[in-house]
Amino acid sequence: MAKQGEIYRVAGPVVTAIGISPKMYDIMQVGEEGLMGEVIKIDGDKTIIQVYEETSGLKPGEKVIDTAQPLVAELGPGLLSSVYDGIQRPLPVLMNRMGDYIKRGVSASGLDHTKKWHFTPVAKRGDNVVPGTILGTVQEFYITHKIMVPPGVSGTLTSITEGDFTVDETIATVGNRNLTMLQKWPVRSGRPFGKKLLPDIPLVTGQRVLDTMFPLPQGGTAAIPGAFGTGKTVTQQQLAKWSDAEIVVYIGCGERGNEMTEVLATFPELEDPKTGEPLMQRTVLIANTSNMPVAAREASVYTGMTIAEYYRDMGYNVSLMADSTSRWAEAMREISSRLEEMPGEEGYPAYLAARLSEFYERSGRVVNSNGTTGSVSVVGAVSPPGGDMSEPVTQNTLRIVRVFWALDSKLRERRHFPTINWLTSYSLYTTNLDAWYRANVAEDFPALRQWAMEVLQREAELQEIVQLVGSDALPDEQKMTLEVARMIREIFLQQNAYHKVDTYCPLPRQYKFMKLIKQFSDLSKKAVESDVAVDSIVELPVRNRLAKAKYEENIDQELEAVGKEMSGQFEALGGKA
Ligand code: ADP
Ligand code: MG
Repeated sequence: MAKQGEIYRVAGPVVTAIGISPKMYDIMQVGEEGLMGEVIKIDGDKTIIQVYEETSGLKPGEKVIDTAQPLVAELGPGLLSSVYDGIQRPLPVLMNRMGDYIKRGVSASGLDHTKKWHFTPVAKRGDNVVPGTILGTVQEFYITHKIMVPPGVSGTLTSITEGDFTVDETIATVGNRNLTMLQKWPVRSGRPFGKKLLPDIPLVTGQRVLDTMFPLPQGGTAAIPGAFGTGKTVTQQQLAKWSDAEIVVYIGCGERGNEMTEVLATFPELEDPKTGEPLMQRTVLIANTSNMPVAAREASVYTGMTIAEYYRDMGYNVSLMADSTSRWAEAMREISSRLEEMPGEEGYPAYLAARLSEFYERSGRVVNSNGTTGSVSVVGAVSPPGGDMSEPVTQNTLRIVRVFWALDSKLRERRHFPTINWLTSYSLYTTNLDAWYRANVAEDFPALRQWAMEVLQREAELQEIVQLVGSDALPDEQKMTLEVARMIREIFLQQNAYHKVDTYCPLPRQYKFMKLIKQFSDLSKKAVESDVAVDSIVELPVRNRLAKAKYEENIDQELEAVGKEMSGQFEALGGKA
């Protein structure tokens, strides 16, 4: 079969070749410069290739070579702290070689093949190994990188050696097959795992509105749709910093060039609150600025997902963020239109929904063949044009993911952060997670959440009346409901990502806050029944103290104190009882 053909036609990132018969998804070297591309369609004698690099200047007649390999990611020590483009070329290496403007036809491997890593075996000669068996470990910053038997290899371990090795040197042999610390995996296929588990453990984020109201489990899927400036990036960065996942994979698909530049500048500065070291030490960053070719952007989510799965296989909880999946979908749309495919809704290809679901379905918490448990949780930001959530990317995403954190521009105008709308957001996992919350936080945790949601819904209904007749017309009991709802919103739901105390709220503290608001509500209900004026309840010093507690250094003692003085202050109000 011919391994070399020639260019027939060039249309933006899409190149048609003739005289060659590759397989679907084969990687091709296109043109005299050998630009990297991938076969995305075969049409009779024509091979259609999406090219990951700028194609201007390519001409019909130039050669095309089939590598007969799919797009793979290199997996092994050295992934953490890397910054890659969509096809796993290290950006710092690219920039070093050619400055800010990345030229074409440059290949750079995902891992450093010259660096030596200290390999410490855990398996022994004579052991029977299967794919996933942990052979030994390498220290990658604070993370113990587990070197595993790659998929497809099993048998008796005939040798294994401790020492300093590059990723290409043999560390063990199975039969007469040499194993190295490097695995290559085709990014478009999910890596194998033992068994999927129920999503019944929360990914704790320290963000009150997420953990308490709309929780995401380890291995779950969530979407954050929101217009520009509503807080998608800040929310994802909070998750990267604070969630109890060990590994973060952050895929930045740039809305605008400068936004990605900002991510590239800010991410390396973020501090890991757990170690005080740079967060990058447990992060892999994939960056596509909007001036990079669309095909690389299309591939980037798969590259990121493959890396996430690889750490899951070691037994880590990984959170994967994609910011924003809308730019990914736009890359699909652009390529599809170059292929002159029949467009679906708003020009997106008919397979948009299928691609989105294939991507999110690679999430999950699993038991691995090596006995470890790991997870990939996926949080996709969606940026609907003009904030209109009825557009196809948002709608198709909503059919797949089970948590919806809807960011709201109106809340942003009111400076209510995070701008997660409590009436339209949801988590379909709460029933799966409630047993965990009962056992690990408090028996009445689910009931408290339920109570808070009801108060907020009641507020929304009452506000419609207030709009018509004004709040003075409401009976005291309803006025008090509005006040309690306000406390839930301002004290509990609002959380300042930039305040050193408020930025992270552990679960027991979240519970305590809600419990105190509920206690205030119960006492005020009694007071109102005893004809105490709503105004004097609202003005109680304890209410103010509760509102301010979240910024206090000694916050837990503050909450303790609030709890102690609350009933006393209510008693002092008197009333007819
Ligand atoms: P997007 O990615 O949706 O365009 P950003 O995440 O960049 O929006 O957020 C825009 C701005 O909103 C931030 O720069 C910040 O000022 C504010 N913001 C968002 N979330 C929070 C938060 N939790 N606490 C405080 N400020 C926030
Ligand atoms: Mg953003």
